[in-house]
Amino acid sequence: TEEILHRQDKLAAVGQLAAGIAHEIRNPLTSIKGYTEFLSMDETGKDRQELFSIVLEEIERVNSIVEEFMVLSKPTAASLQKKEIIPIITNVLSVLDYQLRKSKITTQLTFDDSESLVECDENKLKQVFLNFIKNAVEAMPNGGNLLIAVKSSEEIKVEIKDNGVGMTEEQLQKIGEPFFTTKNDGTGLGLLVSFKIIESFKGKVYIESEKNKGTSFHISFPKANNTLGE
Ligand code: ADP
Ligand code: MG
Repeated sequence: TEEILHRQDKLAAVGQLAAGIAHEIRNPLTSIKGYTEFLSMDETGKDRQELFSIVLEEIERVNSIVEEFMVLSKPTAASLQKKEIIPIITNVLSVLDYQLRKSKITTQLTFDDSESLVECDENKLKQVFLNFIKNAVEAMPNGGNLLIAVKSSEEIKVEIKDNGVGMTEEQLQKIGEPFFTTKNDGTGLGLLVSFKIIESFKGKVYIESEKNKGTSFHISFPKANNTLGE
């Protein structure tokens, strides 16, 4: 019976998620439909350009929801490889370089000399750091400091720390719930997807946050041995 219960739990969770996705996608679709109908009737209105751009934004929104879920759709266990974590982080930082400078955020990356090999899917791990760092950037609308520290011992530990808006106890509780967002244009899926990916690499996450002070994400992965011949 335990097994059955477990399965029912999972089915209930899937049902909830499906209902959430359906809801999140239906909202933008409804407004796309409405605006497009309006645009096709009123061919002379002077607000056409504005309406078109709303339609495009809503399409973009549907697209980002679908994209975030696609990350979860592929099984990963088969394609895990041993990868150095530092180059993965530097790559993500260079992708975000323009955005970081535009947002007046100074970045500091620290690490020790030892190996930091993690059994992972490189692209998915990039996605994880991209999500965390983007959140940090969005938490510092007036600029700030982003600190990324990698430590390698029995585990590979990565801390991503910002001095941004922080979170209340209540917000912290809701982290990782599908569609929980405090942003106007947020999907509330980034962390959920990231946690799932980290879990699939046998990693763990914990969060420290204080309102108006900042937030630290602590991520740890089991260390992969660099065994020859493997
Ligand atoms: P989104 O970024 O689309 O809102 P996420 O799943 O990435 O979705 O994040 C969910 C919520 O968690 C955010 O809306 C925000 O309230 C909170 N959050 C995540 N990272 C941070 C951070 N570094 N500082 C403050 N709040 C954060
Ligand atoms: Mg996000």
